[in-house]
Amino acid sequence: MKSYIVGNWKMNFTVGEASVYLHKLMQKLRTMREIEVIVAPSFVALQPLSLQLDRKKLRLAAQAGNPHDFGAYTGEVSYTQLRGIVDYGIVGHSERRQLFHETDKDIRAAVAAALRNQIAPILCIGETETEHTFGETKSVLRDQLIGGLSEVSTEDLEKILIAYEPVWAISTTTGTHLAAPDEVSEVIQYLRRTLRETYGEVAAKIPLLYGGSVNPSNAGAYLTIPDVNGLLVGGASLVAEKFISIIDTAKKVKD
Ligand code: PEP
Repeated sequence: MKSYIVGNWKMNFTVGEASVYLHKLMQKLRTMREIEVIVAPSFVALQPLSLQLDRKKLRLAAQAGNPHDFGAYTGEVSYTQLRGIVDYGIVGHSERRQLFHETDKDIRAAVAAALRNQIAPILCIGETETEHTFGETKSVLRDQLIGGLSEVSTEDLEKILIAYEPVWAISTTTGTHLAAPDEVSEVIQYLRRTLRETYGEVAAKIPLLYGGSVNPSNAGAYLTIPDVNGLLVGGASLVAEKFISIIDTAKKVKD
């Protein structure tokens, strides 16, 4: 299976800055068959960047999307409108769940909408600090995983990516809340097992990514966990040198 390195730019960069950054990334990256590099700029930058993009080196993802095709949803952008512009869509990011109150039902609908518009969903799941402390990690993840995928057909399951992002490990600047690779490994094994028990053989084809304060110094430790097929990177993806260093690590791990 390929390795996926996804940079979630969140609400950062003007369109001009995003374009300059993309140019820089494309200059530094080589075409790599075994690594898929994906960046998720904000909505306004997606269309211009899609015209600038060399798809052999890099792909675009939307950070979110509205599951309705068209209609009276002021301020929203649908997967139908994103079709042809992005190849991937981040769905159910913890900031969307927490700050914008997206529910499992919304997320299920977004997964389905992305798929019917030829956009591969990157379904984010993760437990909060309280759930982690109370030992609820596995049951929460199971609900988010099975809940998010429940409308997906067997043939579409192969198009999905899952990102495990413990909410307590996201954007920690001090590094005191980093998830230990052993702990991530246990969760990843659990997710793979749950997918296999629920969906059978296709489970082996679903990439499992890790996200949570990944940076150039810890990327190797997460990427060498058995069954981790890539990384979802927030803060460190905003700095070209750091993001490229993480991609280089992924390449070394693959080689
Ligand atoms: C994220 O928000 O998906 C993320 C992983 O952020 P960070 O790398 O900054 O923790």
